[in-house]
Amino acid sequence: MDDNPLLDLTGLPRFSAIKPEQVRPAVERVLEDNRRAVTNLLEDPEQADFKHLVLGLERLGHRLGRVWSPVSHLNAVASAPALREAYNGCLPLLSEYASELGQNRQLFEAFERIASDDATLDATQRRLLDHALRDFRLAGVALPADGRKRFRELMTELSQLQASFEQNLLDASDAWRHHADNDAQVSGLPASTLRAAARTAREAGKTGWLFKLDPPTYVSVMTHADDPTLRERFYRAWVTRGSDQGDHDVRFDNSRLMERILDCRHEAAMLLGFSNYAELSLARKMAGSTDEVLSFLQDLAQRCRPQALREFAELEALAGRPLAAWDVGYYSEKLRQARFDLSDEALKPYFPVPRVLAGLFDIAARLYGLSISPRDEVETWHTDARYYEVFGRDGTALGGFFIDLYARSGKRSGAWMDECVVRAAFDPQISHPVAYLVCNFPPPDEDTPSLLSHQDVVTLFHEFGHTLHHLLTRVDYPSLSGINGVPWDAVELPSQFFENWAWLPEAIPLISAHHDTGEPLPADMLTRLRESRVFQSGLQSVRQLEFALFDFRLHAQYDPAHPGQVDTLLSQVRSEVAVVPVPDYNRFAHGFSHIFGGGYAAGYYSYKWAEVLAADAFSAFEEVGAFHGATAQRFLDSILAVGGTRDAMEAFIEFRGRRPDAAALLRQSGIAA
Ligand SMILES: [Zn+2]
Repeated sequence: MDDNPLLDLTGLPRFSAIKPEQVRPAVERVLEDNRRAVTNLLEDPEQADFKHLVLGLERLGHRLGRVWSPVSHLNAVASAPALREAYNGCLPLLSEYASELGQNRQLFEAFERIASDDATLDATQRRLLDHALRDFRLAGVALPADGRKRFRELMTELSQLQASFEQNLLDASDAWRHHADNDAQVSGLPASTLRAAARTAREAGKTGWLFKLDPPTYVSVMTHADDPTLRERFYRAWVTRGSDQGDHDVRFDNSRLMERILDCRHEAAMLLGFSNYAELSLARKMAGSTDEVLSFLQDLAQRCRPQALREFAELEALAGRPLAAWDVGYYSEKLRQARFDLSDEALKPYFPVPRVLAGLFDIAARLYGLSISPRDEVETWHTDARYYEVFGRDGTALGGFFIDLYARSGKRSGAWMDECVVRAAFDPQISHPVAYLVCNFPPPDEDTPSLLSHQDVVTLFHEFGHTLHHLLTRVDYPSLSGINGVPWDAVELPSQFFENWAWLPEAIPLISAHHDTGEPLPADMLTRLRESRVFQSGLQSVRQLEFALFDFRLHAQYDPAHPGQVDTLLSQVRSEVAVVPVPDYNRFAHGFSHIFGGGYAAGYYSYKWAEVLAADAFSAFEEVGAFHGATAQRFLDSILAVGGTRDAMEAFIEFRGRRPDAAALLRQSGIAA
């Protein structure tokens, strides 16, 4: 046991030494140690103070995080059956431990006593206690015994219902196929889509093409297929997944699960003393009230809709006929080509990874005085991955990050930042923050570096923005440092904010140069690239706002006495906001995983909320220059460094000198305010 590398926290994780069979013993050992430590802390009245009890809990959580982080990371970037099994096997242990801690009455009361009796606590320590007490209450700790039990039952039922919702969607998609066997039917589709479909056909003993209903195929058909009947067939299949409509098996119908999910959430919220689930969701967010969120969304919808209507009319003019929902993606692509004549393929040679990374680090140096250097002797999990150390302006070591950019088998798709080590500095031994930055870009080949589309570059900047938030924290307590304790609707501020530098005329030359000739990106391409940023921003905005309004109103207005609200509310929101006509069979809600399968319930608005914050924060730089030192320093001091120690609205006001205003987002999106 003592040579279990997962339990060795003296340095960075020893990835190559970690074996799947060591995962469960390590996790069991830490949980057992932690349980014993909690009991010991609570038994000793001498230790019932901030320094012993509260920091003791911080220490226990920090250790568990450090042990678990490399496991969940490896499971995401180097998955193999044995590791996946070990990982999945530990999830129930971890959630059981978390709910046990969250409902520990004795611990809660001890925290309450410290909060009320200790007059020496500073603002950060008070905030740490406030957050902890809030989370205890939201875990149901203050309820009488039968209420606590009921709350736990509801949480268990909810996680099962949400998993079944997701499973139905997957099963419905997996069971669906479309067969085509003449060229006219598949006209317009890119070669990569056709190759995948031809392979599926061969495997099924068929000729021609057999299409699946996975997201890349769906998007490809909607964007490129010349035949409107093919597009409609895919559209119908996609928007009826998990419902009573379309050609899916009725076993996959999510209708009853959705009602039950809403019931459980409503009951849990009522138990905790809220009048609906939306209020419960806001208890941990930056937005102050359900009215504030609703008027935020309605106001934006009203201001974006005229632009969306104009953009839709433009598409109809191009097509020369009224358009159906399944025509929009196709004609948008046609219009984009006609207007910008700017393909990914033409841009990619100017964005080779080494150049993009060097420019990215240069931008971080200009803004925050960082110097970033590779440390090739640090062990990683794959030859593609590399470790970088980060130093501040005065040369002090701040922390580091692993970067793993290329797609490969066994790696989860998408891009993300995750925590390897969270900053902790209340013991003599300081933990410096370490991040994982993971993307899925095309790998390099023998003589060509990986060439990125501009969208890839924006993705890298987004994740690097999260990485800076994690690394530049000055908070000493792990539960409030970096992204921890930052409300969900504010956590995308640093990432979306940083995306702006990937679009700036003064920054693009730093991150681009032709990989063969070293030539800069031609000026006219730069101009067209920048103009393409706001293409159809009206249509995109009203779509996001429709989803956000539907989600929020559904959870704010839900009444368990009146089933069947999902479909009527969706129609109502559409009639107020949507621009593209929707056929009656559309059951978008039945496939809305964000809110029925996962954590975005009454929180989908967070995307727009954070976009407004990010655009408004960036507008401070538009006024003084993108590399204005004092403004960057203020952003660092007020936002990046403070983690969860400050109220997110206060921190924003400190940076911007006023409350957030949507005008900057509308202006940057090319929508008149
Ligand atoms: Zn993000």
